[in-house]
Amino acid sequence: MSYQVGDVKVHLLRDSVYWTDAGAIFGIVPKPIWSRHAKPDRRGRVPLAVNCYLIQTKRQNILVDAGLGNKLNAKWRDIYAVKKDGALVDELAKIGLAPRDVDVVILTHLHFDHAGGATTTDEEGVLRITFPKATYLVQRRDWADATHPNERTRGGFQPEDFLPLREAGRLRLLDGDHFVNKNVSTVVTGGHTTAHQVVRVASRRQVAYFPGDVIPTAAYFPPAYATAYDLHPLTTLEAKKTVLRRTARRRGLLFLPHETDHPVGRVEADENKRYVFKPVAPEETPPRSTKNQPRKR
Ligand SMILES: [Zn+2]
Repeated sequence: MSYQVGDVKVHLLRDSVYWTDAGAIFGIVPKPIWSRHAKPDRRGRVPLAVNCYLIQTKRQNILVDAGLGNKLNAKWRDIYAVKKDGALVDELAKIGLAPRDVDVVILTHLHFDHAGGATTTDEEGVLRITFPKATYLVQRRDWADATHPNERTRGGFQPEDFLPLREAGRLRLLDGDHFVNKNVSTVVTGGHTTAHQVVRVASRRQVAYFPGDVIPTAAYFPPAYATAYDLHPLTTLEAKKTVLRRTARRRGLLFLPHETDHPVGRVEADENKRYVFKPVAPEETPPRSTKNQPRKR
């Protein structure tokens, strides 16, 4: 399933679906309210999709996040109801790409559901870099936090997801916002993790944002919604408002990482000035320019 942003093509690659504790992911939002968005199972878990995105520019294949991967042990698979390995590499094959065709992997942050597929255990049980020719882009402060976790943050990380990247020389640590090429850039938001980064694509006056866990699903549009894992929820709140405002103003596309049914859409303000998500079907090309159209607000 692909989407066009100017000259840039974006493919949705569904890696997996897992189930996670609803209280943990809805934070301060009480159950009578979050249960409007999702129906929990008997263990109080709700489903989250794991959506990765491949951004294709003229010269580069750029992956946003690497999914769950295949390294989760039996205990974690039970906790998160993960039934099979992440499908990211198979999904890439469906669009004619092998792992070695990926040039850049942008990790929004290093939690196991975003970085798990960065490395793979092969048939002999050897840990390998999944995308052997790619440069993996990670914010330096997030790297420091993930490699020195504390009692609160430890549960979100699996060191074998990311330590091999450094050993193999595939890791590039970033100190803030970064242009990957003229169309694709990363923007540090913080919030969910100390230096969580989002991805922005711009081409021919069209824009798209990949907000990572600042906006995991459309249920998180209300500013106060954040996961209980967020280290700096007030930073998440401000970052989210900025991403939503910019996406709405430019009639851009938003590519959500954990939305199950319709993860790609536009953002519009309703009559109460609340932002709402308007899913967009694949291959529906956004209007080329809003320049000559009357301004709505
Ligand atoms: Zn996360």
